[in-house]
Amino acid sequence: MAIYDPKSRVAAEFINDQEIKDTLAWAQANKTNHELCHAAIEKAAQFKGLTHREAALLLACEDKDINDKIFETAIKVKEHIYGSRIVLFAPLYLSNYCVNGCVYCPYHAKNKTITRKKLSQEEIRNEVIALQDMGHKRLLLESGEHPKHSPIEYILESIKTIYSIKHKNGAIRRLNVNIAATTVENYKKLHEAEIGTYQLFQETYHKETYEALHPKGPKSDYAYHTEAHDRAMEAGIDDVGLGVLFGLELCHYDFVGVLMHAEHLEAVFGCGPHTISVPRICPADDIDPNTFTNAVPDDLFLKIVALIRLAVPYTGMIMSTRESARVRTEGLKLGISQISGGSRTSVGGYAIRSVQEMEEKTEQFETSDRRTLDEIVHWLLDNGYLPSFCTACYRAGRTGDRFMEFAKDGSISAFCQANAILTLKEYVCDYASKETRAAGEAVIEREMPKICNPKIRKASEKRIIRIADGERDFRF
Ligand code: SF4
Ligand code: SF4
Repeated sequence: MAIYDPKSRVAAEFINDQEIKDTLAWAQANKTNHELCHAAIEKAAQFKGLTHREAALLLACEDKDINDKIFETAIKVKEHIYGSRIVLFAPLYLSNYCVNGCVYCPYHAKNKTITRKKLSQEEIRNEVIALQDMGHKRLLLESGEHPKHSPIEYILESIKTIYSIKHKNGAIRRLNVNIAATTVENYKKLHEAEIGTYQLFQETYHKETYEALHPKGPKSDYAYHTEAHDRAMEAGIDDVGLGVLFGLELCHYDFVGVLMHAEHLEAVFGCGPHTISVPRICPADDIDPNTFTNAVPDDLFLKIVALIRLAVPYTGMIMSTRESARVRTEGLKLGISQISGGSRTSVGGYAIRSVQEMEEKTEQFETSDRRTLDEIVHWLLDNGYLPSFCTACYRAGRTGDRFMEFAKDGSISAFCQANAILTLKEYVCDYASKETRAAGEAVIEREMPKICNPKIRKASEKRIIRIADGERDFRF
């Protein structure tokens, strides 16, 4: 039987089934120990994070006052570390050809009702121009796994194309990548192509459930998939992103699993995940979410968001357009630091040119939040947030443990605040509607004094004027 060891490079040892079960049993046995619960919340309130056991205890706890305290503390931690900034991005789907059999995804190989499509470099160009015209600077590249349709060469060529397009004042300055688990050699190639974060969702950490949900294709290999982030980091990619598809398995199990994965990366590489994504199972072509019996209700889901914020305070947390505007509003308060805006989850969905293209069903999942990027930006501004198109860290070499150094001593917040203001200024000058522009200018004025470093503040004030005069792409 595998023994739990966070430093091991073997999936069954760092995501150890027995340790997860013991943790859940221990949390159940101790959930009425209010002293223990308060001690964990107190520790998290000092930005020290939580172990997977402490976090599981708080998830199990049903006491109303303690739960109120958890939410209150998550809001404080979020505000302290991230201020009012929310980073915006959009997914870009390159191809929905896939050899895998993931039963929750309409791109699974056996689905005959979906239109299969792979973008040519010319089509990618059109998509990127459409995204740049919306105001996006940060994309997440997504693709199904297929040796013929989307080999690594196609992904690398596409990355080159995406970075090369400079349309009017537009540019994609950071391209994060979410493609199937691959070899160290291929991760090296992605690293050389200057990707930002490599994201790979585990979907579920429960091995048996994982194997049942992935009956076919390379993704069915649980260990190869679970050890992928290690290979990416070994290849030099400093920033990796984790994620669970909540609703596939009992969420308590996956919650502990994702925190153990974060602890493992910290133990082996000295740096935890750059981001954790929190998608939930939702309707899609050929997929009925009711067939999954572990659906996570909104309140429990939001408690998970709050506890991830407490457990890994310096790890960005991402919520997609799968969620409704209401859940996104609550999630932003409790810990979400990045959201997608104006997203299309279909292949070629941003630059639709014909009725036939409109009618093609290529979506990966239905989006609940169908607002445009301008509407999302306006909504964030109205709700007291500072929308940010910042991509500075990875371009300034602040990645991996170097990034965490800045994050943990708090000095990153001056960079984040200034960069958020400068990129919002670019957005309001180049892309915003009249109403969003007025709201944006007011927020820029309000947020400028909050840049805590006086030198950076002074320099930002000067740069704001230069942006109004037509210069672009300043960063700290
Ligand atoms: Fe393919 Fe990814 Fe969908 Fe699985 S989740 S079928 S690997 S696109
Ligand atoms: Fe993210 Fe770095 Fe920009 Fe802050 S300064 S928003 S951490 S890229």
